[in-house]
Amino acid sequence: MYSEKVMDHFTNPRNVGEIIDPDGVGQVGNPVCGDVMRITIQVEDGRIADVKFRTFGCGAAIATSSMITEMAKGKTLEEALKLTNSAVARALDGLPPAKLHCSNLAADALHEAISDYYAKTRTRGQALKVGG
Ligand SMILES: [Zn+2]
Repeated sequence: MYSEKVMDHFTNPRNVGEIIDPDGVGQVGNPVCGDVMRITIQVEDGRIADVKFRTFGCGAAIATSSMITEMAKGKTLEEALKLTNSAVARALDGLPPAKLHCSNLAADALHEAISDYYAKTRTRGQALKVGG
């Protein structure tokens, strides 16, 4: 049912955990199987220097979270924003049709973490301007 790559990322997920004091946090949920995915990122020079995830969910949700952290690490924020849910599913050699909704979380959570980062830096920039 699952491809070898899905099984590999499910049984041996990469970048599990949470970055302390992250630059951006994204959390999304999926009502269909109750998956919850939380992605934290650390940004340096416009690139994703580190990314970690915590996912409570089915095998497909865990495999796609693991895969997107590998795909996003080292990328610029612009490049990371172009990562799509279907690109993640393709990188895993596909997902069973019944599990495609789970893969829809991974890119969404990453994109949310990036917009959280943008929101924070914008606020910080404004605060600096007001203060200075
Ligand atoms: Zn699921």
